[in-house]
Amino acid sequence: MVGSFPFFVADAKRRYRLELFAAFCCLFLANPARLSAADTPAARGAVIGPTGLLESFDGVRNRDLDEWKRDISSYSLRHYGVGTWKLEPTAIVLHYTAGSGFPLNLIESREFKDEAPGVASHFVIDEEGGRVSVYQLLPLDVMSRATFGANFCAVSIEMVALDETDLLGKRALLDRATGLIQDLMERYGIPASRVYGHAEIDGFLAEDPHGDFFDNTIEGVFVPRKVDPGNAVMDYIRYALSAGDALLSEK
Ligand SMILES: [Zn+2]
Repeated sequence: MVGSFPFFVADAKRRYRLELFAAFCCLFLANPARLSAADTPAARGAVIGPTGLLESFDGVRNRDLDEWKRDISSYSLRHYGVGTWKLEPTAIVLHYTAGSGFPLNLIESREFKDEAPGVASHFVIDEEGGRVSVYQLLPLDVMSRATFGANFCAVSIEMVALDETDLLGKRALLDRATGLIQDLMERYGIPASRVYGHAEIDGFLAEDPHGDFFDNTIEGVFVPRKVDPGNAVMDYIRYALSAGDALLSEK
């Protein structure tokens, strides 16, 4: 988390901290009045609730949190051996949605692969015409269902893009994602080495289905299927994260 909030920008370090602060305001205070007109989610069909969570998108209500907690607790018991909805984030996993519009399935799906709950990430980041919006779908202390084998420990971030090439063309989105990741790393003490792409988690499960990342329902060999968000996207974000660190430690 940002420790102090300099409003008078004097140097690059402070400018960077100011950007972090701005991202913090948008994400965690989620007061629409603090957003610029171009960034106002309400203009894009989104309604943000008083706690900062997305309430609805284009009239589709975000899922009921109590119901989610009940269902994800049961999921956690089956998959991780602990019946809890509680998340203490120690990793961040990045995804793309493989679509072009807001992923309504992340707020309205009731099941996935014949199992409750539906799928949901903590964040969705969208860019349209150079304008970036960040939506928070779940509280950060509540487990999401976005990354098989890592839901028990990870904050999940979905970036709206058709594929890796599409996503690489959305630099404003990637830069906002980097700012969000940096905020989360600071808030939870997560090192850059614990920022992963979804496909990388699949790779770990294939190496060892019952290692640091695991799922008790895997029997035998795990076959990786995910490709998102792609190596080039992860390279871009990792480089941006290391550049941000260098900037912050300049003085
Ligand atoms: Zn994914």
